[in-house]
Amino acid sequence: MSTKPLPILPGATLGILGGGQLGRMFTIAARTMGYRVMVLDPDGASPAGQMADVHLQADYADHAALKQLGTACAAVTTEFENVPAASLIELASYCRVSPGAAAVAIVQDRSHEKSWLADNGFATAPFALVYSEGDLDAALADTGTPALLKVSRFGYDGKGQARVGTLEEARAAFREFGGQPCVLEGFVELEREVSVVLARDDAGECALFPLAENRHDNGILDVSIVPARVPDSLAAQARDTARAVADRLGYVGVMAVEFFVAGGRLMVNEIAPRPHNSGHYTLDACVTDQFEQQVRALCGLPLGDPRLLSPVVMVNLLGDRWRNGGPHWGALLAHPAIKLHLYGKQAARPGRKMGHFNVLDADPAAALQLAERLRDAL
Ligand code: AMP
Repeated sequence: MSTKPLPILPGATLGILGGGQLGRMFTIAARTMGYRVMVLDPDGASPAGQMADVHLQADYADHAALKQLGTACAAVTTEFENVPAASLIELASYCRVSPGAAAVAIVQDRSHEKSWLADNGFATAPFALVYSEGDLDAALADTGTPALLKVSRFGYDGKGQARVGTLEEARAAFREFGGQPCVLEGFVELEREVSVVLARDDAGECALFPLAENRHDNGILDVSIVPARVPDSLAAQARDTARAVADRLGYVGVMAVEFFVAGGRLMVNEIAPRPHNSGHYTLDACVTDQFEQQVRALCGLPLGDPRLLSPVVMVNLLGDRWRNGGPHWGALLAHPAIKLHLYGKQAARPGRKMGHFNVLDADPAAALQLAERLRDAL
């Protein structure tokens, strides 16, 4: 491998696997800092491709495209966990890659992820691994009912999940998912959901962003409230746990750890090996945002200051809001402390993340009130 000496400085070309909104915001951050960006994504109209210097339109496992990306770029990162770990290994023979294939391979498969968390002593919701219909009876006995059956691979935003109350329902859901490996999880009565986005560098230094409190609608993030309305001790515990997860993974780059809060206790729900939707508030409310942090970690630069400058509420804009001719941007933009981010997606499908906006206010309650009012009026 012909790795460039660190730090990789502006003027160099950075690569990203995946051209969705996370890749777009990485691309914007990198170009703002003076890097060139090459995006690999099979979609000719990808949100990141529109912003990149070069868009390689090819499959993530295309050897010729990976070679082109790896030889043109000083370093390559990813914007989603479903990129084949083998592609990251292949790329690493050409250039610096972060996060590494080993960490991505663990977290891209729910069964591996849950087992890894349990093996490393991190609390999770009760779970059991399901490889065949015959496993379901014992799995339900382990988790109790109701439970959630979740596919191990390629599920996201509540897709590939079914709530089940009986063995019959579990069998039907398992068949519905085509008999693929699943995780059965006990249904937890959630008090809150929170997440920590952090960056970790090659030397193991971590910069943690403040805790976000996340509200979901239909399994999709709807609103993030920062700072999260939880006791300081719980916030500290979440941050310590997130840091321990990153350390144990030997992670380099930006990652998110999502938690459930139940009975005043934390359980790790999911790890995302990339910037996270619940970290979009950092774009307008922190000294350094999560995408600049991704650039810094990738390039071996010192991590930026993750300090929160103002309480903030982030509201996701899903395709559903485009149903009747599209949102009324005028009313939203009339507010001086609203920051709108749209992702350049052409087709607005229900549930599709089209953009988000951040509401900044020194008074957190006022920020939440305005965010909800504006969201409902769109
Ligand atoms: P996931 O894709 O696994 O993060 O699930 C999406 C959302 O579904 C979570 O953010 C929770 O709101 C909800 N959810 C997932 N698993 C559970 C569970 N075991 N108990 C209660 N709610 C859950």
